[in-house]
Amino acid sequence: MIKSLHKRNSELANSQRQLEILSNGIFQSGELPKFKDKIAETGQFPLKAKKLEILQINVGYMCNQVCEHCHVDAGPDRKEIMTRETMQQCLEVIKNTGAHTLDLTGGAPEMNPDFRWFVEEALKIGVKDFIVRSNLTIIRANKKYYDLPEFFKKHNVHIMSSMPHWTKGKTDKQRGNGVFDKSIKALQELNAVGYGMPDSNLRLDLVYNPSGAFLPGNQASMEKDFKKALMDDFGINFHNLFTITNLPISRFLDYLIASENYEDYMYALVEAYNPQTVKNVMCTNTLSVSWDGYLYDCDFNQMLNLPVNSKVKHISDYNEELLEGRTIMISQHCYGCTAGAGSSCQGSVA
Ligand code: SF4
Ligand code: SF4
Repeated sequence: MIKSLHKRNSELANSQRQLEILSNGIFQSGELPKFKDKIAETGQFPLKAKKLEILQINVGYMCNQVCEHCHVDAGPDRKEIMTRETMQQCLEVIKNTGAHTLDLTGGAPEMNPDFRWFVEEALKIGVKDFIVRSNLTIIRANKKYYDLPEFFKKHNVHIMSSMPHWTKGKTDKQRGNGVFDKSIKALQELNAVGYGMPDSNLRLDLVYNPSGAFLPGNQASMEKDFKKALMDDFGINFHNLFTITNLPISRFLDYLIASENYEDYMYALVEAYNPQTVKNVMCTNTLSVSWDGYLYDCDFNQMLNLPVNSKVKHISDYNEELLEGRTIMISQHCYGCTAGAGSSCQGSVA
């Protein structure tokens, strides 16, 4: 198992260092345009937040996996965990906002000791779409998680899970030895309780991100390939596949630099820039809450420690009017959201 950047004392564990890399070199010399200049070409700078639709809450960076490309730098050694007090502040906001989607992420959100309590409390409020980003293997990681499929079913949460490929080799390379077999077993268990079945309202979606320094293929055709392979090989059903572009931050940035792919990858992102995607990038309708309650335009900005550009900085001071219309904090990592068909936590955006 690889170690997190934090555990390795890597210079990239420092978000400031990541931002320097993203602003220097080919972007400082003008070889490639900065993201703000690129979106200004079509009059889309500054990028502004619209009405809040999705509240994404990161309940902690602890994870049972240490995937090669993790933008959170999550792993078993990360101890940042949201407290029940901060969860309570989130619940107050959920009660009072018109956001239709609540999106719980991590790390492995299930590892937060108050995860089940939070799911139950949030559901009492009544959210239209309640997403839990489950890495699947957590369901098989320890006896105390074996009943998660039943728990998810009981509360009708929407499961979104990463699955970088339908083959063991590619999946294990990116996510760690043994991850593929455990993920398959977990998917079969989710299917057994009704998740992902053709007419079931128990939603099970998969998320694909490339296993190297390249952009994802077409979402619809990849979904077809995944569905066929997982059904033929393992009898697995799921609803939709969402493709996500790897953003050049954290462990993926580390991978790009170590494999000497950083510049080529940034060229590929800039060349694939699609101005049509800018109006729909997820920061325009999403707010990301960190484990300690601070607010960010997205989970990526959270990891780069780029807080919202607003008087309101913390969930305890939440004020929808003050946050709406704020200027989004951007840097060159944002090219990852606007390449090709665009990319967000809900897949392509074009
Ligand atoms: S990508 Fe997901 S499953 Fe993998 S280490 Fe990061 S948070 Fe954990
Ligand atoms: S990285 Fe975040 S801030 Fe930048 S475009 Fe994507 S969602 Fe918006």
